[in-house]
Amino acid sequence: MSTDKPSPHFDTVNLHSDRSDKPEHGALHKPIHTSIAFEYADSRELAAVFQGKQAGYNYGRQQNPTVNALQNRITRMEGGVASVAFATGMAAIGSILFSLLKQGDHVVSSAYLFGNTNSLFNTFGNLGIDVSFVDATDVSNIEKAITPNTKLVFVETIANPVTQVADLAKIGALCAAKRLVYVVDNTITTPCLFSPKSVGASLIVNSLSKYFGGHGDALGGAVTETGLFDWSGFPNLYENYKTGPTSQWGLTQIKKKGLRDFGATLSPEAAHTLAVGSETMSLRVKRASDNALALARFCEEHPRVRTVNYPGLASHPQHALATKLFEQYGALMSIELDDEVDCFDFLNRLQYVVSSSNLGDTRTLAIPVAHTIFYEMGPQRRASMGIPDSLIRIAVGIEHIDDLIADFSQALA
Ligand SMILES: *Cc1c(COP(=O)(O)O)cnc(C)c1O
Repeated sequence: MSTDKPSPHFDTVNLHSDRSDKPEHGALHKPIHTSIAFEYADSRELAAVFQGKQAGYNYGRQQNPTVNALQNRITRMEGGVASVAFATGMAAIGSILFSLLKQGDHVVSSAYLFGNTNSLFNTFGNLGIDVSFVDATDVSNIEKAITPNTKLVFVETIANPVTQVADLAKIGALCAAKRLVYVVDNTITTPCLFSPKSVGASLIVNSLSKYFGGHGDALGGAVTETGLFDWSGFPNLYENYKTGPTSQWGLTQIKKKGLRDFGATLSPEAAHTLAVGSETMSLRVKRASDNALALARFCEEHPRVRTVNYPGLASHPQHALATKLFEQYGALMSIELDDEVDCFDFLNRLQYVVSSSNLGDTRTLAIPVAHTIFYEMGPQRRASMGIPDSLIRIAVGIEHIDDLIADFSQALA
């Protein structure tokens, strides 16, 4: 895959990102800057910064040096032109729609979505921005759902929890032909395994809370502009934000309307934690993906496991597509046990696998999906997303694989 990998290689770019922006005193980490206000010896400079005529910091809600360093790191990882960070992944997603769409606009979204994204998109429906949910594993479903009011298409790479893989490249070609904003949530694959820019994404979403920070100790989110979308024909942009290259107007508006006006700002402390965590991202993602593949194969062979959803298995409906698109198949899988095994009892018997929400931690976490994270949406919507009541999501961590398999083995015995 990946014609758009930054050169030099991913890890080198990532580890040396802060250095290339010359942090103060030669510090190897970008320092945590806590100040929310910034002094200008010449007040004319302050005015120039406010008027966008000069680069600089004005107020911590929209700009911070530590957060900027993280944004630059993410931009380099994704091979994009600019990024804006938010307090959470949800704030990043919400800000895209909030900033770029108006009443009467229409969105086509994959039906296979992170639960809170599904909930958020339904809320936009109440505000006059309609979202159609379709099976995004086949581009023709996206095409059929497009109306004259459609402005934006939203998909996840590998969907949580059933691991459907969106028809990413074909959807990208469709969006380019129809001049639609193509948003790809890369959280589950991360820039280590997949470059959404290589399939024509306009904007990339990453929840930094997951594999990016990687230790379950800091929340964050980001939107990256790939530079592929020409915003000059996009009707919803404010005249003030049409400055600089047309390939960056969208992100400028997201920064102003989404970050500055809405204010879900990432804290500099969290930005630092996430940046340090990200330095081992490719090691963690590789190990966790290797573990997930081994565990999925073990589960598939086990007589008490009825179903295993994991794109790395030949039995997965989009296995060939996933093999073509991704470096590895990620660390998210889900299983259904045989009827005689109670899923709660099974989870309680596991010793190293923690009953917990979240994913992208170093530890393996498991959760009974329909009873927890997808409970609120009700049985009908769950059915449309292909989520049975007994489904268990497993977010595989970086423990030794022998211990994970032994743990599953004893809990299933
Ligand atoms: C977790 C997650 C989000 C939301 O991120 P938060 O940082 O928890 O707000 C969005 N998309 C996907 C695919 C996720 O897994």
